Amino acid sequence: MSSSASLQSIVDEIVAAMAAETERGKVATYIPGLACVSPAHFGMAVITADGALAAGGDATMPFSIQSVSKVFALTMALGKVGDQLWQRVGREPSGNAFNSIVQLEVEHGIPRNPFINAGALVVADVNLSGHMPRESIGELIRFIRFLADDETIVVDDAVARGEAETGYRNIALANYMRAFGNIHNAVELVLGCYFHQCAIAMSCVQLARAGRFLMLDGRQPEGGCVISPRRARRINALMLTCGHYDASGDFAFRIGIPGKSGVGGGILAVVPGKASIAVWSPGLNESGNSHLGTLALERLAQATGWSVFSARA
Ligand code: GLN
Repeated sequence: MSSSASLQSIVDEIVAAMAAETERGKVATYIPGLACVSPAHFGMAVITADGALAAGGDATMPFSIQSVSKVFALTMALGKVGDQLWQRVGREPSGNAFNSIVQLEVEHGIPRNPFINAGALVVADVNLSGHMPRESIGELIRFIRFLADDETIVVDDAVARGEAETGYRNIALANYMRAFGNIHNAVELVLGCYFHQCAIAMSCVQLARAGRFLMLDGRQPEGGCVISPRRARRINALMLTCGHYDASGDFAFRIGIPGKSGVGGGILAVVPGKASIAVWSPGLNESGNSHLGTLALERLAQATGWSVFSARA
């Protein structure tokens, strides 16, 4: 990619194209706090390795990051228990929906990967151990604020409460894994932490800022080391292979960069050495990933040549 001015014009073009799209996907309705968000929204923020920001549309409007939080929770859990985590969570794409229970029985309560709900519940359990729930969620929020260098990031308590009241599948998943001994803390406390982490509200700009360490081999742009280069590489690999649930293969095929989606319509995408990108549009495709967000990333990858599979990138 050349200058930041041309990157801004690419973003402007994508924002205009997305505004004109009539097929916008379906907003998630199973979480009460998400059902009322308008599918008309679209935002995009791109931060390059040299620190330039190109943003457009609703890039500064906070939205529910939902499963994008799984990236930050995983990073925190790896910091606590390191590779021991992999005794309790796998590293393979599931090929199933994000909230599926089907593999858990034959695989003895070990979720396929940390980015499906079952895996994220185990990660939340790891982060909770030795803490009160309030401390655990506080630690995650502080970590995200540090990464984004933004103290204004908060949890939307109404979204968390709504999900706690309706999250029967997650309640089932947590109880089922507890029966296999793969949840160590009280199930309702783990679920409380998980629902609160999903209810963190961030804008595209904040999210792209929080993802910078993943494009910089684990370093913050100002210089501090968040995680080792090897760990950053591995998290990016998991985002590429598992970040879009049963549509992860299609995302890799169409976009070719690591990404993590959430049912709030956000996607964090990372081009190692090049860019940290966040897009948001609340309408989802049938796999529960942002319809326009995916389309916008596809256009951005085409326009910039960014891809982990390309010599041109
Ligand atoms: N909080 C949501 C759930 O557990 C997160 C799912 C998602 O974003 N894919 O159902």
